[in-house]
Amino acid sequence: MNYQVNEKGYYGDFGGAFIPEMLYPNVEELRKNYLNIMQEESFQKEFNQLLKDYVGRPTPLYYAERFSKNYNTKIYLKREDLCHTGAHKVNNTIGQILMAKRLGKSRIIAETGAGQHGVATATVCALMGLECIVYMGEIDIARQAPNVARMKMLGATVIPARSGSKTLKDATNEAIRDWINNPMDTHYIIGSVVGPHPYPDMVARFQSVISEEVKKQLLEKEGREDPDFVVACVGGGSNAAGLYYHYLNNEKVGIIAVEAAGEGVLSGKSAATSALGKEGIIHGSKTLLMQTQDGQITEPYSISAGLDYPGVGPMHANLFKTGRGEFISVTDAEAMAAGLELSKLEGIIPAIETAHALAIFETRRFKEDDVVVVNLSGRGDKDLNTYIEHFNL
Ligand SMILES: *Cc1c(COP(=O)(O)O)cnc(C)c1O
Repeated sequence: MNYQVNEKGYYGDFGGAFIPEMLYPNVEELRKNYLNIMQEESFQKEFNQLLKDYVGRPTPLYYAERFSKNYNTKIYLKREDLCHTGAHKVNNTIGQILMAKRLGKSRIIAETGAGQHGVATATVCALMGLECIVYMGEIDIARQAPNVARMKMLGATVIPARSGSKTLKDATNEAIRDWINNPMDTHYIIGSVVGPHPYPDMVARFQSVISEEVKKQLLEKEGREDPDFVVACVGGGSNAAGLYYHYLNNEKVGIIAVEAAGEGVLSGKSAATSALGKEGIIHGSKTLLMQTQDGQITEPYSISAGLDYPGVGPMHANLFKTGRGEFISVTDAEAMAAGLELSKLEGIIPAIETAHALAIFETRRFKEDDVVVVNLSGRGDKDLNTYIEHFNL
C-alpha cells in the first residue's frame, strides 16, 4: 500500500482540489511548480539554512526517562517546542514563503484561528520583508489578544472576519475571497495539511524534516531508524504528517493519531473528526469532517485552540479509513492532566494540543521494550491562562 499522495492529488479516496473556478489559475500555478521549485538546489540550500540558523533545527530527540518509567515503556519526545515561535508551524511557513518568493509573489495572506499560524506567517513575512494580511474571526480576535498583538508587532495587518460564526472557517472564506481577487501578486499560506491539492502534500513535505531528523537521531540512540510507534495530536494534521512522513509506507512502525474529544466524543462539544466525521468537502478537499445530516459543517469544540478544527487533512482521513493509523480521542480533562504530569516529571510544559498526545499513555498500553516517539508539537507558554484556570494555580 502507498499512503503518500498520488499524481492526481489523492490519498486513497481523499484529497483532490474542489475549488471555485476563479481560484483555478492560482492553485494550478502552484501545482505545476511546487515540486520543481522544492527540488531546486538553491531552494533546498536556503530552506535548510533557515531551518538551522533561524528556526533552530535540528530539534532534539529527548528520551523522557521519568515519564517513560511511569508507563513502563520507552518514550522519546521530538522537541518541536524548541523551534523559533514555539511550535512546528514555522517549518511550513518558512517553506511557503520561499515558495512564494520563487513564484514572484509580493503579498502574503493567511487565515488563523487561535493566531498561532498567523504569528508563524507574520514572522516569516517580517523575515523576508513581504506584506502580510491575516484573516481572523472577530470572536477569535477578542479571545486571542496576545497573538493579535504579536502579529501587529511583526508588521502584519489583521483583518476581522465578521460573517457566520466569526471564527476560523469564516476567516478561511475571507482569505479565499481575497486570493480570488488578487490572483497575480498574492500567495496564500495555508497552515496545515488541508486545502486543495497540492497544499496537503506541500505542507507535509515541509514538515517531513521532523521524521527525517527522528530517523537519524534514533539510529544514534537506539541503533535503529524505526521506532515501534509514532504518536502525534491531529488538528488539521501537519505536525502528525511531519512525524509520520518517512514511516507512512513502513508498516512495522505503528501510527497513532490523537484527536480532541473535548468534553466527550458524544457530548456535542468535541472535535473528534474520525469518530464523528463523514466524507465531505471542506476548504477545497474531500476528507472527513463533522457535519449535520444536510451537510452543514458543525462547530467543533476543544479546550485547545489548535485542535478545534472540524476536519482532518486527506492523508489522515485515508490513514483512518484504511486502518493504517490507530485513532484515539482524548478529552479536555485527560489532556490537561497529562500536560501537568509532563511538567512535573520532565520540566517541560507542553502546549495543550501536545498534551492530548501525551494523555494516551493512561489508557493505551505499550510493551516495556517498545520505542514510542511522541511529537512534542509546541510549548505551553501560550496556554498558561488555561492551565491556571483549570487547576486553580
Ligand atoms: C496548530 C498546532 C497544532 C495542530 O495543528 P496540526 O496541523 O494538526 O499540527 C498542534 N500543536 C500545536 C502546538 C499547534 O500550535
